[in-house]
Amino acid sequence: MRRKIVAGNWKMNGSKDLVSNLVGQVRSELASFDNGVEAVIIPPALFVGDVAEQAGDKLAVGVQNVACWGSGAYTGEISAAMAKDCGCGFTLVGHSERRQLFGETDEQVATKVGQALTSGLVAVVCVGETLEERDAGKAESVVSRQVRKALVDVGSESWQQVVIAYEPVWAIGTGKTATADDAQAMHAAIRDVLKSLGAPADEISLLYGGSVKADNAAALFAQPDIDGGLIGGASLDASDFVSICRAVP
Ligand code: PEP
Repeated sequence: MRRKIVAGNWKMNGSKDLVSNLVGQVRSELASFDNGVEAVIIPPALFVGDVAEQAGDKLAVGVQNVACWGSGAYTGEISAAMAKDCGCGFTLVGHSERRQLFGETDEQVATKVGQALTSGLVAVVCVGETLEERDAGKAESVVSRQVRKALVDVGSESWQQVVIAYEPVWAIGTGKTATADDAQAMHAAIRDVLKSLGAPADEISLLYGGSVKADNAAALFAQPDIDGGLIGGASLDASDFVSICRAVP
C-alpha cells in the first residue's frame, strides 16, 4: 500500500495568525474522517515550530527547502537535520521556484535529497516541465532526467523516504491544471523511471501538483498512479485544504 499524501506548500505566505487559525481548523476537520490521507503543512521555516506545536498527531510538518550541507558557515541556510530537530518529517526538494528563481541545479537537488534522507526526513522531490518543453515534445525526457539525477545517490535502504511530486511548471499558480489523463500518463512514466533505477517503484508515492483545487482534486487523485497532491494556493484556506484531503479515495 502506498502512502496517500496531501501536502500544503505555503511558499512565502502566512503569519502566526494564519498558523493559529488554519492549523486548528484543519486539525479538527481532519479528525472527522479517516481515508488514510497523511496531511502535511509546509510553512515558511520560521513558522515550523508553531505549526508543529499545534498540529497534533493528524498533521505532519515540513520545510520548503534544505541546505546542501549539514552545518557550518552558510549564513541564511537551514539544514535538514535542523528541520528534523524542530519537528519536521518532510522537506520539499527542487521545487520549480527554487530551480527557476534561485538557479538550483539537478546536482544540488541530488545533494539536498541526500541531506534529507540521512537526516531522517521524507524528501518530496519536485519535477516538472515548462510549457516550452511540453510544446517541444520534451516533457517526458525532461522529467525523466530530473528524476534520474535527483535520485542518483539514493541507497536501497532509503527509498521509503522518497516521494516524487510531478508539478508541470505551467500549471503552478496559473489556474491551469494538467488533465487527469495527462497527469496519469506522466506519473506512469515516472514510475517506469523509478523501476529502471532499481527502486521499489510500486511502493513510492507520486503526487500531482499544479493548481489543484477542491473541485479538481478528486478526478486527479482517482488516477491509479497519483497518490495525492502538492498544493500551493489552495493550502492557505483551511476549508479548501481539508476538501482536497477528503478527495483522496
Ligand atoms: C506549488 O507551489 O507546489 C503549487 C502546486 O502551487 P499551486 O497549487 O498554487 O499551483
